[in-house]
Amino acid sequence: MNSPKILDGKSIAAAVLEECRAETLELLEKGIRPGLAVVLVGSDPASQVYVGSKARTCADLGFYSVKIELPAETTQEELLQVVRNLNADATIHGILVQSPPPKHIDEDAIIREIDPRKDVDGFHPENVAKLVLEDATGFVPCTPAGCMKLLEVSGIETNGAEAVVIGRSMIVGKPMALLLVSKISNATVTIAHSRSKNLAGICRRADILIAAVGRPEMVKADWVKPGAVVIDVGINRIPDLSKKSGFRLAGDVAYEEVAPLSSAITPVPGGVGPMTIAMLLQNTVRAAEMATR
Ligand code: NAD
Repeated sequence: MNSPKILDGKSIAAAVLEECRAETLELLEKGIRPGLAVVLVGSDPASQVYVGSKARTCADLGFYSVKIELPAETTQEELLQVVRNLNADATIHGILVQSPPPKHIDEDAIIREIDPRKDVDGFHPENVAKLVLEDATGFVPCTPAGCMKLLEVSGIETNGAEAVVIGRSMIVGKPMALLLVSKISNATVTIAHSRSKNLAGICRRADILIAAVGRPEMVKADWVKPGAVVIDVGINRIPDLSKKSGFRLAGDVAYEEVAPLSSAITPVPGGVGPMTIAMLLQNTVRAAEMATR
């Protein structure tokens, strides 16, 4: 049995946050406190957890952080107005509208309303274009940026590697593929999705396999090339009455059977999740720095 390298997102994220802390101190000396506003519409339980954890990390780093909780009945226009107010608020450098909003909200229209200079999620079309153009002045979505940081810090070679990304969302799959294929990373990238044929065969080609699907333990051992690096983005709640919460978290990868085959793998929880928050705070520090120029 092989013993894979466990890519410890918690400790790598902690190191990123220490850098953010030092940069925040420098900004505070110049009289600027990085400010992040998180807007939550409705009461999706997973979103509540994410927003709570973002707020705690902000407080720990000495950020100014605002949590705006709106009822599920909030109208599109009311939400647009909240975003406009935050755009105009000089104490706020980063704005995040927690996904998913209730069904009656047009999420794209909300994202387009966010000032691209405060779009620390990197979802605004201006930032998406900058990612495609490899223009480093934009904001990169936090989860794929976190995956890239994990690969980089762990010394995983992307140059010339065969990478397969399962999932084509604008939040994870597509930006992940763009980062891997960029002139910095130079991987050969395949994007697989719900209509891909022979998914297992496509995945078996991968030197680096990224799973961002939202289907618990979908990636099995016979989908993975021995020695591959496996990054599991999935966060799925599985009912489990033995837990106080009533559920356990599982990734998109069948960890127990895949880990022994892989050369390196991210656990769930404790892999990509902590990296996402760290990259969000890094983007916010950058937004605050940019606002001083
Ligand atoms: P999404 O639902 O927007 O996209 C899922 C993608 O998976 C789609 O592109 C779809 O084509 C593909 N897909 C669905 N079923 C498939 C199948 N059977 N075979 C192949 N492809 C299939 O989801 P998302 O926002 O990209 O998130 C994906 C997962 O990552 C979820 O579990 C989510 O909770 C998790 N996530 C984790 C973090 C983190 O910080 N770790 C951040 C964002 C999302």
